[in-house]
Amino acid sequence: WDWDIISNKLIWGDGYQKLFGHELKKIGLTFESWTSQIHPEDILAVKKSLHNAIINENINDWEYEYRLYKSDKTIAYVINRGAIIRNKKRVAIRMVGGMTDITQKKEYEKSLKKLNDTLKRTNRDLEHSNKDLEDFAYISSHDLQEPLRMISSYLSLIKMKYEKVLDVKGISYLDFAVDSSLRMQQIILDVLEFSKIGKTKETLVEVNLNVLITEIINLYQKQINDTNTEIKYNNLPIVLSYKTPLTQVFQNLISNALKYRSKIHKPLIQISCEEEDAHWKFTITDNGIGINPIYSEKIFDIFQRLHGKQEYSGTGIGLAIVKKIIENLGGKIWINSEEGIGSSFYFTILK
Ligand code: ADP
Repeated sequence: WDWDIISNKLIWGDGYQKLFGHELKKIGLTFESWTSQIHPEDILAVKKSLHNAIINENINDWEYEYRLYKSDKTIAYVINRGAIIRNKKRVAIRMVGGMTDITQKKEYEKSLKKLNDTLKRTNRDLEHSNKDLEDFAYISSHDLQEPLRMISSYLSLIKMKYEKVLDVKGISYLDFAVDSSLRMQQIILDVLEFSKIGKTKETLVEVNLNVLITEIINLYQKQINDTNTEIKYNNLPIVLSYKTPLTQVFQNLISNALKYRSKIHKPLIQISCEEEDAHWKFTITDNGIGINPIYSEKIFDIFQRLHGKQEYSGTGIGLAIVKKIIENLGGKIWINSEEGIGSSFYFTILK
């Protein structure tokens, strides 16, 4: 379009009819031929913006986004841009410009916004149900502890008082019951532990991982000596993180490497770290019994174990705890393992 401000003559290009359907002959050749098509809710703002641009002698370009009625009465979103031509006294005398139909872009934006809103809602719902589940796990495991403690202590009392009157079968039944209640106690403690992850508010601190690993080694010193295990690590970084969950991660992985050690060769555990752009990547490698790669995802699920409790003690919650903590720390965990050769656990945490 080309608008002569002095004579108020507006010349439209052919594109205006092509895009919006208005017959140029019908709409006339004045400023009003344009403004009469603008959506009533936008018209004042458009006029005001144009007016401000024209009277400000330092402004040479104008641009505005608004709604326009097409000839079929549907609405188009447009961007109108124009260059202001001024005389020597900086008075605006003419404007030349063009309009772009951005309806599709607007509709796309609207559908994106709708999708985004739906996603936000789903996310909120998920957060709620997740929190409900965690609260349920926390409360039920907390409440179950008390009656279970009663069962265990009464079973122990029965054994103490009536051992002499029970036959061998009776005693072994009682032993099974005591064993099971102790196991259940451990499972409940584990569920409680699992549901507590991410709940406690800790502050970020500098954690020297060489020190942290030494502390864990001290904790398992007897088992390490008894099994003649060698643990190698050096030059681990100092990371800014949360100490308790990070300790839980390393402690679980190291104790598993000790537990699932090879019975044939001298156990060796190696811990290393690589620095990536946004993450620290850790590797804990053992030369233990390894796992069949078909279970490499399953072992991170809660209560998933590959061995019976007679063979190796445990409840199958350790790696689920580790995975949940690592995800809370903005990282991922995975395993590369071969049966009879050993396993490498890899995990990342956000820097
Ligand atoms: P738990 O040790 O109590 O069974 P985890 O969740 O720590 O539970 O481990 C799940 C399973 O993954 C274990 O039962 C074991 O089969 C396997 N696993 C874990 N760590 C290792 C390892 N370092 N080497 C071989 N198998 C492992």
